[in-house]
Amino acid sequence: MEIKAAIAIDDDPIFCLVAEEALLSLGAKEVQTAQNGAEGLSRLQADPDKFDLVLCDLQMPNMDGVDVIRALGRTGFKGAVAIVSSEHGSVRRAVHAMAQMVGIRILGTLSKPLDTSQLKALILSYEAAAPRVQDALMSPHELVSAMMECRVLPYYQPKFNVRDRKVSSVEVLARHKDKTGQLHGPANLLASAERNKQMFEMTFVLIEQVVADYSRWRKAGIDIGLALNISPLLLNRLELPDILLNRFAEAGIDARKVTLEITEDKLLSFSADVLDILARLRIHGFRLSIDDFGTGATSFEQLQRFPFNELKIDQSFIRAPASDPFARTTVETSARLAAMLDMTVVAEGVETEDQLARAVSAGAAIIQGYLLAKPMASAELIRFLTESKKSTSEAA
Ligand code: C2E
Ligand code: CA
Ligand code: CA
Repeated sequence: MEIKAAIAIDDDPIFCLVAEEALLSLGAKEVQTAQNGAEGLSRLQADPDKFDLVLCDLQMPNMDGVDVIRALGRTGFKGAVAIVSSEHGSVRRAVHAMAQMVGIRILGTLSKPLDTSQLKALILSYEAAAPRVQDALMSPHELVSAMMECRVLPYYQPKFNVRDRKVSSVEVLARHKDKTGQLHGPANLLASAERNKQMFEMTFVLIEQVVADYSRWRKAGIDIGLALNISPLLLNRLELPDILLNRFAEAGIDARKVTLEITEDKLLSFSADVLDILARLRIHGFRLSIDDFGTGATSFEQLQRFPFNELKIDQSFIRAPASDPFARTTVETSARLAAMLDMTVVAEGVETEDQLARAVSAGAAIIQGYLLAKPMASAELIRFLTESKKSTSEAA
């Protein structure tokens, strides 16, 4: 367990006691309790870096949980907050969205009486998402040396056709190797590239390696599509379509084989430039995918105007429990919406057969997730694809 210090803020003393005991039993080193919002907040403000987890009741007299979260946002609190509430789902979702806007990470909601297994699941999700070794962003110089020393590299995760369970394409996922050779996920890398205004360079450092890998795959008789993550930050360069087209053409890769995945959250800037770039990418043959769908605020009208071919439903909805009505409705409505707009539906983050079955019955045509394949290096991908080709031809 990596919780150093947690605080439970609730006007209900019994809840505070139970929460304290549960957090300690789950490995928290220190737990404090506060019986009103103002007291909790003042302890957090006195030492914002001390706490990594806050359990906060929404309904409290005087200063309620919403006030506490807003004020925490102003403090620059970097830990995570779990909401304790029995309010209607729509209220919890509103608080969730507000928290995101003020920069506070909400882990999820706990109901009363406190269920320890629910709390445990939240803490596990916190640990999975928490940046570990590399809290500090890389300086521009560090990022440049990482790129020059080939320590920014592509991993590949297969996307499978539901129809025949064959790999239709692979998604490129950035990885960062530190100086000791340890491999890290892309969170810190992306945040550093964003802050240092090096997202464009970072993307093209990956693309160079991808085209080299692609030619190795072709020599091994592998012919698949590619999916690249493109930060919405790149959608302000009008020359992007030409640069991409030229690079792939030079490498002998047909643009129609390449899907550009653009995350939904920052896509909201709905400008002439963005529409221009997206339209020209499509005209050149690239496929466009809207990533993490359901987490941002794309309206139906925007979805109609953006020329997307594919919609990737965010993993949080795919992995939500079958009993979660909001997640189920989101998956089903997104799939129906996509079908109406002639878009392919992708379910990502599929970890179990049950999630797979639910995604397929909602209308997903493409599946991606640990259940079928994890992200891997190029050499491993070649082995994976050759093995799966062998087993399908043996089965035939
Ligand atoms: P994403 O595009 O939504 O990619 C899916 C993420 O979920 C990947 O995390 C992948 O490793 C993970 N994942 C896939 N299947 C499962 C599953 O079954 N269970 C779980 N728990 N996770 C699964 P990763 O590689 O850490 O990437 C995180 C995000 O970073 C990506 O989310 C994407 O938005 C961004 N990203 C990665 N590479 C690039 C890049 O080259 N450029 C840009 N702009 N963004 C990138
Ligand atoms: Ca993606
Ligand atoms: Ca996604």
